[in-house]
Amino acid sequence: MINESEIRVCKNKKCQKVLPDGYKYNYCEACRNKQANTVKSTGKKVLAVAVTVASVTVTVLTAGKINLKK
Ligand SMILES: [Zn+2]
Repeated sequence: MINESEIRVCKNKKCQKVLPDGYKYNYCEACRNKQANTVKSTGKKVLAVAVTVASVTVTVLTAGKINLKK
């Protein structure tokens, strides 16, 4: 028995691809892959910022120590 009202489409409004019967995600495979890549690149950016902040902090602390010796 096919219930037409239960056909689900990808939640991405630009995509709206019909999802397979019993598909457990709200987004199609392609959109899920895109999201995974977005999360990964965002993670790398966050890491890069953290490293930058850490190195700046070390530089500031080092500079502060040098200044205190004067
Ligand atoms: Zn999609």
